[in-house]
Amino acid sequence: MNKNKTVSAAPQVLPALPYAENALAPVISANTIGFHYGKHHKGYVDNLNKLAEGTKFEELTLEEIITATAGKADKAAIFNNASQAWNHAFYWRSLTPKGGGEPPAALKQKIAAAFGTLEDCKKELAAAATTQFGSGWAWLVLDGGKLKVVKTGNADSPLTRGMKPLLTIDVWEHAYYLDYQNRRADYVGAVLEKLVNWEFAAANLG
Ligand code: MN
Repeated sequence: MNKNKTVSAAPQVLPALPYAENALAPVISANTIGFHYGKHHKGYVDNLNKLAEGTKFEELTLEEIITATAGKADKAAIFNNASQAWNHAFYWRSLTPKGGGEPPAALKQKIAAAFGTLEDCKKELAAAATTQFGSGWAWLVLDGGKLKVVKTGNADSPLTRGMKPLLTIDVWEHAYYLDYQNRRADYVGAVLEKLVNWEFAAANLG
């Protein structure tokens, strides 16, 4: 317990969705967002706060918890919930109702240097998203100054590999099953064409 607190306040909060629950329809329905944000994402934040209560983790930022617990078998529960809380907050911001289209110039140049064309970059993201076996995430990252596409399983994150995430696509079944059932490739393709937030990715170049 933090001695400076008079009541036990949960330190991590569920960030507001950056748009209405129905704003990504028809690519992602309000029903999917309702469960995904309101149940899954909220559940990770709530579980994290329960696990952190009364421990040193109560005092840390989300990123600090992730870094401190990554790869430690006895801290797997707190890592998984912290990393999923981070990944979901990042995922919502990786999408936008009027997404897709062309990235801002600075990002486009980096995409050209790393992948050739924007289409090649999207193909690589789609391949990572569809070939991730089971639950996980596909990411566009900055790794040593160069853009890369990587995929991570379950709650794992490029943050634990020293990479800087630029955008992500959630490929857990809960992200698409109500709308697309087993057709993960259709969900990924529609996200890349219509929702992906290149402005957000460009802002993350820093
Ligand atoms: Mn999810």
